[in-house]
Amino acid sequence: MRFRSTRGHGGEVSFRQAVFQGLAPDGGLYYPTTVPDLGGLFESFNSSDSFCRLAEEVTFGLLAPEINRQTAARIAKRAFTFSPKLEGLADDLYLLELYHGPSFAFKDFGASFLAACMEEFLTEQNQSAVIIVATSGDTGSAVARAFYRKENINVVILYPSGRVSQLQEKQLTTLRENIVALEVRGAFDDCQRLAKQAFTDETLRSELQLTSANSINLGRLIPQSFYYIYAYAQIKAATDSPLVFCVPSGNFGNLTAGVYAWQWGLPVEAFVAATNINDIVPEYLQTGIFNPRPSVATFSNAMDVGNPSNFERLLAVFDNLRDRMASLLRGEMVTDSDTLEAMAEFERSYGYFIDPHTAVGYLGAVHFLENGTGGRRTCVILGTAHPAKFGQTVEKATGKAPDLPPDLKRTLDLPKEATQIEPTLAALSKELRLRFA
Ligand SMILES: *Cc1c(COP(=O)(O)O)cnc(C)c1O
Repeated sequence: MRFRSTRGHGGEVSFRQAVFQGLAPDGGLYYPTTVPDLGGLFESFNSSDSFCRLAEEVTFGLLAPEINRQTAARIAKRAFTFSPKLEGLADDLYLLELYHGPSFAFKDFGASFLAACMEEFLTEQNQSAVIIVATSGDTGSAVARAFYRKENINVVILYPSGRVSQLQEKQLTTLRENIVALEVRGAFDDCQRLAKQAFTDETLRSELQLTSANSINLGRLIPQSFYYIYAYAQIKAATDSPLVFCVPSGNFGNLTAGVYAWQWGLPVEAFVAATNINDIVPEYLQTGIFNPRPSVATFSNAMDVGNPSNFERLLAVFDNLRDRMASLLRGEMVTDSDTLEAMAEFERSYGYFIDPHTAVGYLGAVHFLENGTGGRRTCVILGTAHPAKFGQTVEKATGKAPDLPPDLKRTLDLPKEATQIEPTLAALSKELRLRFA
């Protein structure tokens, strides 16, 4: 499989090149230029296959010959020490819990796979790298956990001082060793700008082997397709009605990965693109007008995205044709008050908590099933974060506070270790050189 930029400049690149470049030089996102037919492979999986084994097979199926079987096995084994968990809610309704990984959110799947790939490629060449990641909270902890104790890789996290939750800050600042937390006196936008400035500073970049691990990296996107295939393998024997996935979406990486799985042969009838009030994509599906705008803050804050970057990749799948996209994707917008309502209703019905992002997906699925025309559907909702990560919102919605998983509780008790910096490239460069030059 080869990759090309969505903006159309430059030639094709290998997976490895796409992984280390992150963004294409023309500012576009890398996407696969060929559509492999893996339908037969997907059919060969069944409910007794482990996620790790499935990941190995699909990695090899997609990326051979660039990645051989032994390498695929090594990457899958290192990356996936955790697994999705499929819960049956009703006959036709499932929750695919993607929040049992090290940072308790689905971003662990992408980050772990990317880390395993980078480790593999760097070790092969006897090289090392420094990863810079700007975070408003959740991405940083997934990346930090994924790269923790990788020998040839150091990670620098930039986070906005006073603007992440206490739990998030502890997740970012308590690992230490090869994970450096820089607390930036500024906003998330400053952190993002600093990361970008560091990458575009040629001297710094070559001096330190800087690399990024942000959410648009193909090495994070590809593995997100694996759990759609896994869900299918888990339920295919139990149902014969058409399969629908409902995906709580912000930047649309998760949904794009599902659409890729469908393109490669997974039998999916539709994807529900569930958003909060930042409903740029549902609006596009309805009107054909893509109208990016500043994001609005909501309870499902990891989905507060006003200009979803993976939209370019989705357009590439459907040849820029809205009708084609709309025949596979349904948009559903969910307000904050309906989100709280859905969290309470879910807890009453099923006896456990969901976080506000998953609740947007849940309500999107309920709407879809209510309004669907004719016939039964099997609907799988993607659960994107552990409810304990959004305990305050859970409490607001249900009147009860979820228990913290023991691992998160331990994290809260560890001492914070971070260096405060001014939001300038000079300050960042100084810290980087001090540590890694
Ligand atoms: C990042 C995130 C999302 C949105 O995923 P995208 O791939 O950006 O659409 C949803 N829920 C949670 C908890 C997240 O962290």
